[in-house]
Amino acid sequence: MSKQRIAELIDKKAAVFTALNDKIWEYAELRFGLKQSADALCAALEGEGFRIERGAAGMAHAFIATWGTGAPAIGILGEYDALPGLSQHAGVPEKKPVSVGGNGHGCGHSALGAGSAAAAVGIKDYLQEKGLAGTVKYYGCPAEESGSGKAYLARAGLFTGLDAALTWHPMMENSVWTMSSLANYQIFFSFKGRSAHAAAAPENGRSALDAAELMSVGVNYLREHIIQEGRIHYAYTDVGGGMPNVVQASSELLYFIRAPKPSQVQSIFERVVDIAKGAALMSGTTMSLRWDSAAANYLVNNTLGRAMHANMNALGPPAWTEDELAFARSFQATLDEGARASIPAALARYFPDADRAALEAMAAKPILDDIVPYKETDRVLPGSTDVGDVSWQVPTAQVFTACYPQGTVSHSWQLTACGKSSLVHKGLIQAAKIIAFTAADILENPSLVAATQTEYQQRLAGESYCCPIPSEVNPEE
Ligand SMILES: [Zn+2]
Repeated sequence: MSKQRIAELIDKKAAVFTALNDKIWEYAELRFGLKQSADALCAALEGEGFRIERGAAGMAHAFIATWGTGAPAIGILGEYDALPGLSQHAGVPEKKPVSVGGNGHGCGHSALGAGSAAAAVGIKDYLQEKGLAGTVKYYGCPAEESGSGKAYLARAGLFTGLDAALTWHPMMENSVWTMSSLANYQIFFSFKGRSAHAAAAPENGRSALDAAELMSVGVNYLREHIIQEGRIHYAYTDVGGGMPNVVQASSELLYFIRAPKPSQVQSIFERVVDIAKGAALMSGTTMSLRWDSAAANYLVNNTLGRAMHANMNALGPPAWTEDELAFARSFQATLDEGARASIPAALARYFPDADRAALEAMAAKPILDDIVPYKETDRVLPGSTDVGDVSWQVPTAQVFTACYPQGTVSHSWQLTACGKSSLVHKGLIQAAKIIAFTAADILENPSLVAATQTEYQQRLAGESYCCPIPSEVNPEE
């Protein structure tokens, strides 16, 4: 196998995929409404000979693009959803929205989708050139930020039969993900009451705002009695109006409930529902709940992760030009104190064996060109991702490549502004190569497939995937 050849094949088409990133960055579509972004990705993959199935698992802009036949089968995951409120001019180191309140790619998913497509095409070109058997499937996964598109794909069983699923995320460092993540339910709780004049006829009113407040008080008492790793947070999405003299007839809260295992989330969720029912009873209102989304925890596969990490080392870190370093510095100058302070803390975590001088030298770099060593860990990322749902159905690995200046905050205008820069372009091609190299390992090394499977079965520990989104809940509602 010649990984050098795979890298050459990806380099040849690099401009196509960096342009695809730029196009999706411009579209900046949200959640499930990703028509233009999905159209652009499908057109690129169809043009490369992939068969496109649109509308996967009932989502109009989810799709599976398949090339080849038979075993082994590799899944490559792509995302392409943006975030609300993060509209920003590209390349400008000051907060300057293109449209005030508009959407922006503040998590780099335009690069994620395009880089994964470059990987899929790269490994396809290689298999084609060598006349090798195997299947490459690109999964177009909508609604990662909110909506959990992959959980619906997993619920429909669309990842089963793969030998591995590979993905990446643009980041501030070069690493392979070794942590688990938290399972997460996202639920809207709505209260309906009765309006009345709050001074003239308060006895006729039943306040939905009271219900929401009572629910929050109850949940805040519950915090003392849940597991240490559990997390509950909420936002008021409807406060029933802005006039104190009108008894609020409606209210709504969005709750996120997280814990290391879906079963733990479920038990906290059941207690939160009881509290919501209690709040409705106390306030004389009615309560209903609506699922926004849910995601399973992430099952690490160190066998696959180590293979990916070896490929990142073999490729070497990206080399940044003077212009790129200056660009990164201009954005670092806009970071607040908290973001700056996070740099040494993150480096100490990534490089626990580095001495002080080495850490200081790395902290002085505007963008990293170091590779984080692979360290197995029991740590759980205090956050959630729907890649977790995929990891329950198939051995999964995820690589991060440095695409942004150190200290850049996820979901920020700075991250959006870097989205069409050569930093991101380099980082996405780097990720595409690492994914394609790892896919080649899986396609050409049956013993790696077997070892990956063994670890996957151990992690499952006899359990099987149970989608945290109830079967009656549909996407895009
Ligand atoms: Zn993201």
